[in-house]
Amino acid sequence: MKPVSIAIDGPSGAGKSTLARMTAKKLGYIYVDTGALYRTVGLFVLRRGVGTKDREGVAALLPEIRIEMAYDGAGVQRMLLNGEDVTDLIRTPEVSMAASDVSAIPAVRAFLLDTQRDMAKKHSVIMDGRDIGTVVLPQAQVKIFLTASAAERARRRWRELREKGIDTDYESVLRDIELRDRNDSSRDIAPLRPAPDAVMCDTTEHDLEASFGMICDIIRERTGDGL
Ligand code: C5P
Repeated sequence: MKPVSIAIDGPSGAGKSTLARMTAKKLGYIYVDTGALYRTVGLFVLRRGVGTKDREGVAALLPEIRIEMAYDGAGVQRMLLNGEDVTDLIRTPEVSMAASDVSAIPAVRAFLLDTQRDMAKKHSVIMDGRDIGTVVLPQAQVKIFLTASAAERARRRWRELREKGIDTDYESVLRDIELRDRNDSSRDIAPLRPAPDAVMCDTTEHDLEASFGMICDIIRERTGDGL
């Protein structure tokens, strides 16, 4: 049977990863977090001391980077950078910003494209990112554009960071989110924007359970099965 692709795009903190993970579990699909790929490149660039906005410098490092996505027994995506497990290291605010910077570099996007498409060729996937419905998987059977107000997204991200023991204040999380929104929406290549055939889903006023219900309804309507 041909694999099914579901694309979930949207700005940081809209709940994409949590909701995509829940949906993947329910459908028995693989959840692919594409932001983790950009974060892994960002981490490598930071470690090498190259400016994350330096297009030539970053492009020159790409041949040294080997990224693998592996799935552990619980179905959690692990990121391997030249064989080292960096899954937890890529979640800091510093790496978030580096990921946003390097993701605006065309050579980086081209470098990561095949890895993403290969996953969808082999498996039924729920893939989340910024350009999945527009660039990576334009043929996806279901496209969802998930959003929420910047203040609400910052509140959720702040809580999540604190739960992980990363100590930050709300104001700086909000500033980061607004800056990343601007970076992601204004870049020339693959800017954050809904595909024309994406279903818009605003979760500002909805908790996790209600948002999950909305997503299940959209998938059921579009595919006629599964949930
Ligand atoms: O989703 P996450 O916050 O982990 O993504 C980190 C950064 O990677 C984003 O701010 C965005 O700039 C970039 N990204 C992207 N395209 C994707 C996924 C993430 O440009 N498909």
